[in-house]
Amino acid sequence: MDAQPNSPEARDIRYHLHAYTNMRRHQEVGPLIIEKGDGIYVEDNTGKRYIEAMAGLWSVAVGFSEPRLVEAATRQMKQLPFYHNFTHKSHSVVIDLAEKLVMMAPVPMSKAFFTNSGSEANDTAMKMIWYRSNALGQPQRKKIISRKRGYHGVTIASASLTGLPNNQLSFDLPIANVLHTSCPHYWREALPGESEDQFTTRLADDLEKLILAEGPETVAAFIGEPVMGAGGVVVPPAGYWEKIQAVLAKYDILLVADEVICGFGRTGEMFGSQTMGMRPDIIVMSKQLSSSYLPISALMINDRVFEPIADESNRIGTFGHGFTAGGHPVAAAVALENIRLIEERDLVDNAREVGAYMQQRLRELASHELVGEVRGVGLIAAIETVADKATKAPWGQVGALGALVNGQLQQNGVISRAMGDSIAFCPPLIITKAQVDDIIVALRTSLDAALAQVKA
Ligand code: PMP
Repeated sequence: MDAQPNSPEARDIRYHLHAYTNMRRHQEVGPLIIEKGDGIYVEDNTGKRYIEAMAGLWSVAVGFSEPRLVEAATRQMKQLPFYHNFTHKSHSVVIDLAEKLVMMAPVPMSKAFFTNSGSEANDTAMKMIWYRSNALGQPQRKKIISRKRGYHGVTIASASLTGLPNNQLSFDLPIANVLHTSCPHYWREALPGESEDQFTTRLADDLEKLILAEGPETVAAFIGEPVMGAGGVVVPPAGYWEKIQAVLAKYDILLVADEVICGFGRTGEMFGSQTMGMRPDIIVMSKQLSSSYLPISALMINDRVFEPIADESNRIGTFGHGFTAGGHPVAAAVALENIRLIEERDLVDNAREVGAYMQQRLRELASHELVGEVRGVGLIAAIETVADKATKAPWGQVGALGALVNGQLQQNGVISRAMGDSIAFCPPLIITKAQVDDIIVALRTSLDAALAQVKA
């Protein structure tokens, strides 16, 4: 019999090089091929349905089958499929999106600039920061401080900001002028007997020591996700951001909030900066900006950033930066409609309410033999698996247990993501409590199956 159009035999998978994949292992195991999406569910090419408990890549806020986003894209595609914003040109939809973003910003912002991925947006933030320092006559002020386990992307600049070994090993990164300070993961990083308050004070001290050692006049900015995502979902303890911001203010250092995951409701407020009490000068957004139906990212800057770079562009003759597809009209139309949906359907409230429920249900699993920590806020969470709860020791190599539980979850119809031994949950913002219950049932079953293997 001939292969069915959607069957694995129908396609030759050898030509597609995958992102974030062990290429040799992939030659053995091949891909999971997803063909359809419906609400919080996706379906593979064998007809098996999964709860997409990662919203794709932390991104599909409104779910996988939203007709209004399709209509918005179709309308815009028919009216004006492409235009750009170089050399004083514009189009209505990008003007409207910029206004919408600046109006909804959690702290006063001045301008929105459009890019196509979180990495590009962070790259642009770094370039704007350097440009600003030159504009201010402070060419020595070029260093950017990021954090261990922070995630800011994969371009040469943004992978340098990222604080994870896999993004830097053999890529000859990080580049110069990027520094990494400590990660606010209390459960892993606190010293014996250290309280949360002592821990956050120590981290703020670490930051200040680093600034002083480098020379405060050389440090331009600090970048951080309000809640760390790809580094394992790390929610900083209360007081952390207040103490960090006090140090930054003391040395006149800009704060960049990377809201690529947190933005648009994920943490139970519209922006993670609100949940975490951050007052950034630059806000970086992507993912839930368009529910990733189309690629788009943006950064907002305040007047502290805009005014000097505007003067510098005037001095040079142009701001020599911009992407062909930056603010693409079809992506911008989808983003605008997506934000309307998030507002109309109270998805931020849903993230807070169903999020609180998800956090509570996940915490019921904290007593499981393999669960070291459950953490998260709103609709973003992780469980960190351990082989020994007392010593927090892994099962063999770090990542082995995470991969085992994650694989079990996939078999049990839930797509999650293992980051080392942490397993992340970041479902679409439309998820219901009953659907959270389905994730918990699958997770418990998967943990039990993994435990049987660990003990075998
Ligand atoms: N910043 C954060 C906080 C992210 O989570 C990501 C993507 N996971 C990025 C930046 C990079 O975005 P992209 O993959 O679109 O380049």
